[in-house]
Amino acid sequence: MNYDDFYPFDYESLSYTLDALNPYISKYTLYFHHDKHYKNYVDKLNALLKKRPMLHNVPLEALTEIADEDIRTNAGGVYNHELYFSSLTPDYKEPSEKMQKLIDDSFGSEKEMWDEIIEAGTGLTGSGYVWLALAPDGELEVLVTQNQDVIDLDKYIPLFNIDVWEHSYYLDRQNRRADYLNAVKSVINWEHAEKMLDSQNDRSD
Ligand code: MN
Repeated sequence: MNYDDFYPFDYESLSYTLDALNPYISKYTLYFHHDKHYKNYVDKLNALLKKRPMLHNVPLEALTEIADEDIRTNAGGVYNHELYFSSLTPDYKEPSEKMQKLIDDSFGSEKEMWDEIIEAGTGLTGSGYVWLALAPDGELEVLVTQNQDVIDLDKYIPLFNIDVWEHSYYLDRQNRRADYLNAVKSVINWEHAEKMLDSQNDRSD
């Protein structure tokens, strides 16, 4: 158990430039999304925690589950955005053979998986995220969460999430959420998804 402080949480830089995901996600969308929306969650979370020193050694994942709604929501905003920006890359690579097998075993094919992701993402009323996660039975599942809720991290291992709040796509595609989800297919970071899978598997050994 690590008792070092986690507070204050860092505002993490992108690992790519703001225009790197063009034309799938524009520079303007990424600028407002990362430099304004995400930063706002980091600042708000740190401001709330400043008054709660007892929580300074609680990791971000655990803060996304606590009873205090303000802290939970802002911790979720930080966790969800950091995973989302890490889930994207300008340097697209196909899923590895191992990942492809897991996808095929879980959904039949990669196309069927994306059909399910797009259906779930467009079916979500209001704001939230669509997730690809490993379920306890060893199969991948598509999940959705509302607002800044996080999937149950004690049960599921997240591979990636896709932000479907309107600020993720409205400047580029107005109300066309399905077009945005289709575009995200081309910039998903499968190497990062596999790293998520491996690191979390290691932890439970
Ligand atoms: Mn967002």
